[in-house]
Amino acid sequence: MKRRSLLEAMFAASLLPALHACSAANPGTVEGPKLGMTKADWREILPADRYAVLFEEATERPGSSPLNDEERDGTYICAACHLPLFESAHKYDSGTGWPSFTQPIADSMGTKADYKLFVRRTEYHCIRCGGHQGHVFDDGPPPRRERWCNNGLALLFIPEGEPLPALRG
Ligand SMILES: [Zn+2]
Repeated sequence: MKRRSLLEAMFAASLLPALHACSAANPGTVEGPKLGMTKADWREILPADRYAVLFEEATERPGSSPLNDEERDGTYICAACHLPLFESAHKYDSGTGWPSFTQPIADSMGTKADYKLFVRRTEYHCIRCGGHQGHVFDDGPPPRRERWCNNGLALLFIPEGEPLPALRG
């Protein structure tokens, strides 16, 4: 129980830096255009677990996504609006328990600073619908050394040769 109390205290305290992050200086923020969809609209069409990650910024349990073991060629698309976000060529096993990539498809992601765990992390989201995908770190493999740590619930995998579903929202 001690550990739980500590975690709760950490999350409560983390509200302060979060407030600070919302103030004027927030370099590097890129906000994509939002679709004409409200959160309530997405809640209606998405399964609850996917909705929680995409629009409440929940994080799935590590090791829980079947996409961790997905090794086929194909495209990873936003589970909300279906925008292509990653190519399988850039997926790698980071050992973290979350699907990880060295880079996203160009111009598919927006980012913002996130102070939820005290340290500054860079949150990223689908540029089209704003759906939260994960966090990007600088401890990935060369040459880019980026690790795009993604929630599997926020993605759908489309194997090569299958048509991509139409964009929605
Ligand atoms: Zn999207």
